[in-house]
Amino acid sequence: MDFTAYKNRNLIDAHAHLTDSRFDGKREEIIESFFENGIKAVIEAGADLISSRDGAKLSKEHNNIFFTAGIHPEYADGYSDKDLCEIKKIAENKKCLAIGEIGLDYHYDGADRLKQEKLFKSQLEIAKELKLPVVIHLREAASDMLNIVKDMKSYFHSGALFHCFSQSTEYMKELLRINEEFCFSYGGAVTFKNAESRREVLKKTPIENLLLETDCPYMTPHPFRGETNEPKFINITADKINELFGYSTDKITTANAERFYGIKY
Ligand SMILES: [Zn+2]
Repeated sequence: MDFTAYKNRNLIDAHAHLTDSRFDGKREEIIESFFENGIKAVIEAGADLISSRDGAKLSKEHNNIFFTAGIHPEYADGYSDKDLCEIKKIAENKKCLAIGEIGLDYHYDGADRLKQEKLFKSQLEIAKELKLPVVIHLREAASDMLNIVKDMKSYFHSGALFHCFSQSTEYMKELLRINEEFCFSYGGAVTFKNAESRREVLKKTPIENLLLETDCPYMTPHPFRGETNEPKFINITADKINELFGYSTDKITTANAERFYGIKY
């Protein structure tokens, strides 16, 4: 599908993994075609030390790419204090706009919940020290997450983005009662045929708190499921969101991403 009809749309992909090896050989071409495909900027999400470093490098080479640095909960078993110092050092880069993705993920058997909590809290401290917002990965750990957010409220003062948000409307409201500026981003999953409940939550999300993302190479929107996801597919998600809201949210989601991340081009 040709996406050049979306030129000048100026959307922001608030969470992508362009340094993933699946993009080897075509990364530069994809980045060069951002503008043609309706994309103004992409935030590259770190998930461990290597991807955080790679994000720093990619953002240095391209004006419209920024990055986040952090260790994903699925790596809670193997990190060291030295790695955390390194994350902090990487995050001092002026194109690093947040600490993330960090959080809790109890999906896999053997997930060490205590280690995940410790890793998450350590990175919240880094975010607080550097006055950076956080990008949160949350999967099957809703109540523990809520308790941490409540207990450590002040650690989220620079903002929090719950990426690929998949919880209930009630849960979102609960978070917004703690901090009305918390943000939620949605990706290709809102286009899936069986995602009616996710769309219901999306529709209840306050428009000023809503961001777009691809989480590429994962979460390719319908009808492209099975293909590697890329930033250009964000147009499909944006179209779906506009259809659900009944008006164009394009300018608003871009402004929200710029405000949340403090993007300076
Ligand atoms: Zn991600």
